[in-house]
Amino acid sequence: MNEQQAAEPVKCTYCGKPADPVVKREIHDRTRCQFSNRQVLRTRELPFCSKEHGSNYQMGCEG
Ligand SMILES: [Zn+2]
Repeated sequence: MNEQQAAEPVKCTYCGKPADPVVKREIHDRTRCQFSNRQVLRTRELPFCSKEHGSNYQMGCEG
C-alpha cells in the first residue's frame, strides 16, 4: 500500500514545480569571475518541466 519514493522529484529550474517528465536543456550563461573580474561563459545542463521553460530560463540568462 505505502509506496515509498526513494528519489526526490526533480524540480524545474524555471518554475520550481516537479518536472515529470524531466526535460534537460543546456543553459549558457555568463558569470563574473571574482578574481579576474572578467566575464566567463559557462554551460550547464539543467532540468526543466518543458522545453518552453528551458527557453524562458535561457532568455533570462542572456542580456
Ligand atoms: Zn517549469
